[in-house]
Amino acid sequence: MLKELIDQFYLDKQRDKEQTHFYVTDAGKCARALFFKFKNAPRKEIEANILRLFDHGDHMHQLIMKPLLGIRDIHVVASEVNIPPQEIISGRCDAIVSDGKSLYVLDIKSMNSMIFDKLSEPKEENVDQLQLYLHYFKVPKGILLYVNKNTLNLKEFLVSYDQGRAFSLLNDLAETKKQIDSGKMPPRLSDYPGNWQCRYCQFREICGMAGAGQIQWEAFKNKVEFIAK
Ligand code: SF4
Repeated sequence: MLKELIDQFYLDKQRDKEQTHFYVTDAGKCARALFFKFKNAPRKEIEANILRLFDHGDHMHQLIMKPLLGIRDIHVVASEVNIPPQEIISGRCDAIVSDGKSLYVLDIKSMNSMIFDKLSEPKEENVDQLQLYLHYFKVPKGILLYVNKNTLNLKEFLVSYDQGRAFSLLNDLAETKKQIDSGKMPPRLSDYPGNWQCRYCQFREICGMAGAGQIQWEAFKNKVEFIAK
């Protein structure tokens, strides 16, 4: 009885989530998938246990913040800090910390052992997100701290602000916004379906139906309306 109710609680939370602005986590992501999210296109439902894992990630963050708040050599300047309000994007970094000499934006990511053990450098999509935090907070350095969910081991990587990369990510999002507003569905990723984003994409079915190139959403959306959201 409880299992079904708890599963349903999570499944209900993800329904009809039309996206109206970008999040920092969208940086560097497939423009077509972002387009589909804004258009509230039919998508494959995420299973309840995966949604619970997202919640579990939040607990990992708390687990890391607790000792940080008690360490004398590190000062947590602020935690859960929103980027300054502006038109294109919103987001909240985990913390801004100081070692007494420099400020660092801290972004905490949790993952399973299989991914954690292979990690010898930060994941590109995490660096993209961190670059936008560094950009908006005007902090020159950041730390990506990875937590192994199975063993609770840690790995950390120092990342320096790269203005060119941050501008390029923001330009891409601005371009995607134009495509969303004009109803021009962006093309697929050039390495579809091998790209890692395609493997986890909730829109893979309708993306396959749409073909590779740019097309008009109005002409395509009638073909996918029959697919249950
Ligand atoms: S399947 Fe791949 S190319 Fe298509 S929307 Fe998803 S991530 Fe983008």
